[in-house]
Amino acid sequence: GLPTVVVAGRPNVGKSTLFNRLVGRRQAIVSDQPGVTRDRKESEAMLRGRRVRLVDTAGLEESKPETLAGRMTASSTQGVDGADVVLFCIDARSGITPADEHFAQWLRKQDVPVILVANKAEGKVGTEGAYDAFRLGLGTPVAVSAEHGEGLAHLMGEIAEHL
Ligand code: GDP
Ligand code: MG
Repeated sequence: GLPTVVVAGRPNVGKSTLFNRLVGRRQAIVSDQPGVTRDRKESEAMLRGRRVRLVDTAGLEESKPETLAGRMTASSTQGVDGADVVLFCIDARSGITPADEHFAQWLRKQDVPVILVANKAEGKVGTEGAYDAFRLGLGTPVAVSAEHGEGLAHLMGEIAEHL
């Protein structure tokens, strides 16, 4: 089948906005309310001339287990399973949260390539926030603004290197 690119991360970091940008049309539901995306949404997308299957994962609070660790594991296992590359998204404006750290720690142990995406990186606050993501130990953060359409060509190039 097609190479699978999974957009993952805690709720409200802008996964669905990024998904829509990469797909090139509005398909996932974007909301100010964390976790409004109920299901995994997927679509085919063309990235640098390569056709891929792009998957938008639901927010971490969607899964059943009650503990933070449980939610992390359930959600990330679902999302990452079968991925050729994971776009692990953080919010450069809110900064790194414990949920991001848990998820990053879990991801580092998985046998899957991860691209660390610092979304909402527009402007000075965003640029500084993106640098902070280095400490997650997942390589150089790729700063983007899904909403403003910044950094997406660079991100597509990074994804293409994993296909
Ligand atoms: P998800 O829960 O991770 O899927 O996040 P959404 O895509 O639903 O977006 C959550 C909120 O973040 C919405 O209000 C979006 O408009 C906003 N958002 C998404 N991308 C950006 C961005 O690049 N910059 C800013 N400032 N806000 C963004
Ligand atoms: Mg969403």
